[in-house]
Order: sequence, then structure tokens, then C-alpha cells
Amino acid sequence: MARNAPGVVTAMAKTYNHLFGPVPSRRFGRSLGVDLTPFKTCSLDCTFCQLGQTTQKTTARDEYVPTQTVLAELKDWLEADGQADVVTLAGSGEPTLHSNFGEIITFLRENCSIPVLLLTNGTFLHLPEVRKAASAAHMVKASLCAWNEDSFCCVNRPCAGVTLENLVRGEAAFSQEFAGTFYLEVFLLWGISSTPHDVKRIAALAAEIAPDHTQLNTAVRPPAEDFAVALPQKRMQDLVALFSPEAEVIAEFSAGEAPDIQANETTIIAMLKRRPCTAKQIAAVFNMHLNEVSKYIGKLTRTGRINGVQEGNGTYYSASDGALTEGTPE
Ligand code: SF4
Repeated sequence: MARNAPGVVTAMAKTYNHLFGPVPSRRFGRSLGVDLTPFKTCSLDCTFCQLGQTTQKTTARDEYVPTQTVLAELKDWLEADGQADVVTLAGSGEPTLHSNFGEIITFLRENCSIPVLLLTNGTFLHLPEVRKAASAAHMVKASLCAWNEDSFCCVNRPCAGVTLENLVRGEAAFSQEFAGTFYLEVFLLWGISSTPHDVKRIAALAAEIAPDHTQLNTAVRPPAEDFAVALPQKRMQDLVALFSPEAEVIAEFSAGEAPDIQANETTIIAMLKRRPCTAKQIAAVFNMHLNEVSKYIGKLTRTGRINGVQEGNGTYYSASDGALTEGTPE
């Protein structure tokens, strides 16, 4: 818990320890994040993870952050008239590792009308109690990035005891039981899972899981490992027809009508600590002109508090180590 990064100032200029954003989501709009684990606490160590390498690889489900504190922060945020398109359980690690994540979802369902989205790597969905807790969400997105145990180890580097067989079994069972919308995200990497031969084998597993929607993604944000390289957009489009029903390539984030959220150096750094973003994405989230954002980026880069990494056709900015402790309240 001590490693949990400080929270982000929200629309009402409050600081929380377990809420962040709203941040841009390429799939679901502006998302208020609920972070239920210490930084990089996960059952996987994916080569493409935008948060870097997993520091606490575990399958131990526990109350990693105090449930009552998270509920109190959510209550406060709701009372402060927070606005978001979706509330997402995600953040610094795998949310279903938190033993009470279902209680958080149930609270949100009972106390607001904002849809609740659970992002999970799917490694615990073979457990009936996890499926039951997850089923309270409006939407669940789980992952599939491999076609056999060897490719699973290569791409996702699982904790001991975590198998692709259980992941597929759990996701298939959840898909059958879940009354909400179940998304399957298939993450593809150039030279690792980019040939039609291999992607067909992933598609066969996706057919067993039978989600409502299958979405193809690739490493458009700076990954944990240099060798996790993005597929070109054209190749992604060529692969969608291998899935039945046809998959979709996830579109770039579009902000639409952003609420009037004021940004400052602290809020930008805190957001970039959680998720690398382009200048355009920062502008969309905070409803700022790009020129204004570039001033912040210039200053924060010059003072070493953020770094830019060229990825695809954009530069993604992330917070430097220790950036949040420089004048940022915990
Ligand atoms: S991408 Fe998700 S599942 Fe994979 S290591 Fe990162 S947090 Fe864990």
C-alpha cells in the first residue's frame, strides 16, 4: 500500500489516494479510475504493459487497499458532482486481486448512474467467487494475448500456477453467465503474435470464450519491453476477419464534449504517472488548448519531471520517478 502513488486532483480540485482521472480511454471515453492495488501488483508481467515490469507478481487475493477508504473517496467524489463517462476498476495492477472489488462495484451501482467497467487480465475468472463479484459490473473487459502455454509465458510472463487453460476456461464461463457486456481484448505484438497462422489460433480460443465484442489492440503506448512492438494499423485491419464474429480495431481516443476540468502541473503529472498520454489526450481530458498543454509539457520536460517517448506516430509522456513527491500532497 505504501507504494500506491498519490491520487489525481479531480474536477472539484480534491486529491484522492485511490481515484484518478478522469483519464482518456480509447474505448470508453473519459474514465474515472479506481485503483485497488499497489503499483504493479499483478498476476502477469506482460511484455507490453504500459506501467513497466511487474514488481509484485502474485496470485494472492487480499484487501490490498482499505475498502472503506476507497468507498469514502467515491462517496466524496460523487457528492462533489464528479463527471465521467464511466467508472473503471483498473490502474496500477490487476483489480480482481483485491478481495473486495465486488463490494466497490456494488457501491457504485447503488449510488450513481455512471456505468461501471471492470478491466481484468482474466486470470482469476476461473474462480466462481470472482465471477460472481465481477458480474455486478455493467461491462467487463478481459484479455487474451496467446494461443498456447508457451506463447502465454512469452507474452504475458504469468505468476507460477497461472495458466492459459484456466484463463480461457474462466473467461468462457464468465461470458456465459454475465448479463452485462463482455469485451475480449486481444493484444497483438509485431513478430510475436502477428502472423495469420498464430492469430487464427488466438481466434479459435476467442470463439470458445464467445464474448459480446472482440477488440484488437497493440502497443500504441510505451511498453515494458523494447521488443514489444506495435503492429501497423493496416496489418491489424487485415486480421479482424480471422475472428468470428469479426473483431474491431480499437479506435484512437476521441474526447467529445469534455467537462470543464482545470489542469495544473500536479494533476498532469499525477495522470501521467498512471498512464502515458499524448499532448492531444492531455488537452482533451483537461479541456485545454493544445498550446496551453505544450507550455506545461515544455516546462515539465525541461525540469525532468516528465519524459517523452516516440511511439507509432505520436509522443507519449510519462512522469519521471519521484515527480509526484515534489510538492505534491499525498
Ligand atoms: S498489462 Fe495488465 S495484466 Fe499485464 S502486467 Fe500490466 S497490469 Fe498486469
